[in-house]
Amino acid sequence: MVRGPLVDSYGRVHRDLRISVTDRCSLRCTYCMPEQGVPWLPRDTMLSTEEVVRLAGVAVAMGIEEVRLTGGEPLLRRDLVDVVAGLAALDPAPEISMTTNGVGLARIAADLRAAGLTRVNVSIDTLSRETFIEMAKRDRLTDTLAGIEASAAAGLLPVKLNTVLMRGVNDHEAVDLLGFALAHGYQLRFIEQMPLDAQHQWDRTQMVTGEEILGRLRTAYRLDPLPDETRGSAPAELFLVDGGPATVGVIASVTMPFCGTCDRVRLTADGMIRNCLFATGETDLRGPLRAGASDDELAVLLRASIGAKLPGHGINEPGFLQPPRPMSRIGG
Ligand code: SAM
Ligand code: SF4
Repeated sequence: MVRGPLVDSYGRVHRDLRISVTDRCSLRCTYCMPEQGVPWLPRDTMLSTEEVVRLAGVAVAMGIEEVRLTGGEPLLRRDLVDVVAGLAALDPAPEISMTTNGVGLARIAADLRAAGLTRVNVSIDTLSRETFIEMAKRDRLTDTLAGIEASAAAGLLPVKLNTVLMRGVNDHEAVDLLGFALAHGYQLRFIEQMPLDAQHQWDRTQMVTGEEILGRLRTAYRLDPLPDETRGSAPAELFLVDGGPATVGVIASVTMPFCGTCDRVRLTADGMIRNCLFATGETDLRGPLRAGASDDELAVLLRASIGAKLPGHGINEPGFLQPPRPMSRIGG
């Protein structure tokens, strides 16, 4: 039996599996995909609920402790509650969380909680209807806000919010977004825009950096960094706001990479293992799975993929190449 922890050749033990359950999406965030969308994966290449749960089970037996559902937009997956219930029935059961744009979450938050989901991260980039339409090309701000509220009501706590700032579009809203999060008890984290958009239009000179975000927040709040030891493998650098207990996070993936402590591995909706967001290669698990591979054979493939992980994403190195899969197809 092939088991034991998933360790890469740099000694990083992997405990966090991100599963993209669909590449489809209800929004078109500028920093992620173009207004017309991207060609979706053929349906027959997408993993079924049973396949997702089986592969997660192999990973859990190798020390994965947290499974995060993402996409695309996970709420577009019709059998999402079954996926959550299947994961919750694994032994040992992983902690199950989800990253979502919140559209449609109000309708299903309580069912997801009952099935075993414990936490959500909802992406919200603006509090202005006009800016939402400009950024996401859809008029869905009220749905996202309702989804956030329903998550808290359903006990999916703590509710975390993810925000990507774009220069000249929503960067003036940093302080207002933090005020909104503080007023409701949500934990806000700003994410630096990464070169993972389907259009390949990312421009380093236009990116709002972590330093800049902190500068904007400090015009209204006192921010004191929490000690590094409290961060562990978490991507966000956390700051106490006005002495705490509330915190705000900054995920400076580009200007302050945290690859050295990365413990994440990703499974795409079409069954590929990606050992890094920026990996240019991936390991096919769907083919072997559908060809009748045993759990041990799948475990060998998973271990080999993690063993081949590079020390870092290399965004700041001269030879960096944006991966062919955009964020919406990898799973953020
Ligand atoms: N649709 C869901 C959502 O938006 O939360 C889940 C998938 S989305 C790809 C996951 C996260 O990635 C979101 O918080 C989104 O803001 C973030 N994201 C997407 N494209 C990004 C980019 N180019 N740079 C940084 N973050 C990005
Ligand atoms: Fe969809 Fe999420 Fe990408 Fe926005 S960030 S387009 S909500 S997948």
